[in-house]
Amino acid sequence: MARYDSILDTIGNTPLVRLARLAPPHVEVWAKVESMNPMGSVKDRMARAVVERARARGHLAPGQTVIEATSGNTGIGLAMVCARLGHPLVVTMAENFSIERRRLLRFLGAQVVLTPASEKGTGMLNKAVELADAHGWYLCRQFENEANADIHTETTAREILDDFDGDGPDFFVSGFGTGGTLKGVARGLKACRPSIRVVAAEPDNAPLLGSRVPQPRDEAGRPSGSHPSFRPHLMQGWSPDFVSKLTEEAQDLGLVDRVVGVSGEDAMERARALAREEGIFAGTSSGATLAATLLVASEAPEGSRIVCMLPDTGERYLSTPLFEGVAEEMDADERAISRSTPSQRFDVTAPAPTPGPRPERPAVREREPVDEEAERFVDEEAERFVDEVVAENHVVMFALAWCEFCWSARKLFAHLAVDFRSVDLDSVPFQRDDLGGRIRAVLSKRTGASTIPQIYVGGKWIGGCTDLFDAYAGGALDHSLCAAGNAPKIDPNDLLPAWIHPRGDA
Ligand code: PMP
Repeated sequence: MARYDSILDTIGNTPLVRLARLAPPHVEVWAKVESMNPMGSVKDRMARAVVERARARGHLAPGQTVIEATSGNTGIGLAMVCARLGHPLVVTMAENFSIERRRLLRFLGAQVVLTPASEKGTGMLNKAVELADAHGWYLCRQFENEANADIHTETTAREILDDFDGDGPDFFVSGFGTGGTLKGVARGLKACRPSIRVVAAEPDNAPLLGSRVPQPRDEAGRPSGSHPSFRPHLMQGWSPDFVSKLTEEAQDLGLVDRVVGVSGEDAMERARALAREEGIFAGTSSGATLAATLLVASEAPEGSRIVCMLPDTGERYLSTPLFEGVAEEMDADERAISRSTPSQRFDVTAPAPTPGPRPERPAVREREPVDEEAERFVDEEAERFVDEVVAENHVVMFALAWCEFCWSARKLFAHLAVDFRSVDLDSVPFQRDDLGGRIRAVLSKRTGASTIPQIYVGGKWIGGCTDLFDAYAGGALDHSLCAAGNAPKIDPNDLLPAWIHPRGDA
């Protein structure tokens, strides 16, 4: 165990893991597992290197905004680096990249500007250049920034060489997006082991390198449009619609010995095999690199040591075709396992699944017998609090932070853009002298309802979550929730916790 001053110091030194089950027996296949970086991808290395070099060279001032065009992993790495070093970050991203990437970026404090999918990688890059020029932001230019390749020579390649201690590897297989990994690692490995064969993998339907067609470029050497061989493909992070400067340099320097095309189907099949047979959870481009690696392995001499880059974690692909067919509900086998013992079964306790209208909602509001002694007790402080908060706020919800029904009500208010005061009875300010519990007792005495949430609109008690939903669905709240007219009508049932919905469980 080590101690670190910064999360940035935990980047790199990723493990090299033997693929004992998937590799053919006559060779050794070793995976460089880049998901072990703090933000789960190889791009953490580049993000740190680019930002630190820009700061060191005075191209990036303290607090200055950083901007980059990225399909996600670079942005996520940059978001971590910028968060730690105190730079705002703006990311431009084509709208077709996975939703979780956008949300992750925003969670890390970055702003994401989407660009039309039809404009591909070139579109997001052009937008980033335009925004950087217009606002004086620092543009990382990961596709041409030498710091991107240099960090892979200094760290990734060095780590691999050290791990083999002079006795390997014989092959290195990698895809390319910016080409930073390909150029940087290949250069580092070849400098120490000239005999190593470097294999670049690319989508078989977008043979940017394999076609040997040159990339159209402008006078400044920048790609001037899509490469004629580019076609959309499944390997996010691989082959943008142009050959980057770093990738072209890798080729021009003679660092690439072979180019292998991989189909999207093979990529996904191999990513699944990595998870199920080696227990390594990696993304689509990792599956694709493995597919190319296994082809190389099948032809490699006995005893060869082959290194395969696995650029990121599979968690980044939950909403992509990689997870298609991975069910949310129990399948027939899982239901049979469930039924093999008596308790916790849906088939016994749940009503038979009936397609069509939703079943009755569960009662979330129950009335309890009035406790007469409690009835006579007057808690002035709690009474006054309820009176004041209801008088001062148009919409008030007495809530518990953990309560899912409160969250459902919050979602409706958010949808309607309604400002509301949430009195979280279990939060720290209400723990003093059990104020929260006493307020709850006052509410229960006044309304006859002992459950939470309890909602007031315009000084009037509405009831709990389902009462709120009923009132909304019936139009009763259209006037009292001022913004209601602007928001599209929704079925509030969709906002209830997922576990309430009926299961198709035979
Ligand atoms: N795979 C994934 C998932 C990526 O995000 C990237 C980076 N865009 C790559 C592979 C390619 O890495 P590089 O940019 O260093 O070529």
